[in-house]
Amino acid sequence: MSTVRTTAELRAAVAAGRGAGPVGFVPTMGALHAGHESLIRRARSECALVVVSVFVNPTQFDDPADLDAYPRSAERDVAVAAAAGADLVFLPEAGELYPPGDATRVVVRGPLTESLEGAHRGAGHFDGVTTVVARLLNLVGPDRAYFGAKDAQQALVVRRMARDLRLPVEIVTCPTVRDADGLALSSRNARLSPAERERALSLSRALGACAEAIADGRLRHGAEAADAGLRALAAGGAEPEYFAVVDPETLEPAGPLEGELLLACAARVGDVRLIDNLSLTVPQFTDEPEAATREDRAPTAAT
Ligand code: AMP
Repeated sequence: MSTVRTTAELRAAVAAGRGAGPVGFVPTMGALHAGHESLIRRARSECALVVVSVFVNPTQFDDPADLDAYPRSAERDVAVAAAAGADLVFLPEAGELYPPGDATRVVVRGPLTESLEGAHRGAGHFDGVTTVVARLLNLVGPDRAYFGAKDAQQALVVRRMARDLRLPVEIVTCPTVRDADGLALSSRNARLSPAERERALSLSRALGACAEAIADGRLRHGAEAADAGLRALAAGGAEPEYFAVVDPETLEPAGPLEGELLLACAARVGDVRLIDNLSLTVPQFTDEPEAATREDRAPTAAT
């Protein structure tokens, strides 16, 4: 396992390792947890060379306080990445990815970037994400790049960008890793007090309860389900930003609740902004509707 800090070192190290088989890439912002580890392990199982980047990308933060407070633990991250199977960890300074005079942005337009996170964090958020991911993909040149379903919208936006730019990379989306009580792992969870962590459970619980109500036919329309989700978030002690029921490919709001659905939400708990989502398949309306979550470990539904 080696660590590189410059783009020149990165290119040289990837060039030396290429040829043995597929190159896998896992971009992260560090403070690595079991969610990141699952992506690295998946890359390890499918690729000959596994590259992990750790870079807190300033251009995707709409809130300077959030950027300042973002947890940083580079030394520990290198050890965690190595233990999960990384061959190479890229730890760039901002100037490596944003060179002096930097004037280029990669922008995905339309509902994919303007809805949900884009609507609440501002369009600049995804411009920052796609710009840095495009630069990283260009530097690493991976065959496969691994993203978490935890950031479902981000994975869709990156896939769209890779297709549109004709990048020769497969975007692989991996399931959300959760704590035993359902809380989706996030680097931001480290900033929650024990009491706030309890309130943070309202995200996975609201998603689970909403999915259950859709599954058993108590909720049959997207707007109705979104309202119920917002109420459940607030009742659980979070300050909701949004709760949406959308088409998982286009992110357009769902009408009648049938077929493939994505339930997505964002809420604040204290100073910490959290997001979560859940995929759901509703086969059809019958007297006894059936539904199944597509996640390996669905959040526990609220009672
Ligand atoms: P981040 O460091 O938060 O930018 O995340 C880096 C990658 O890890 C992204 O593709 C995230 O979607 C993914 N990720 C973050 N949290 C989780 C989780 N709980 N389960 C699975 N993947 C995750």
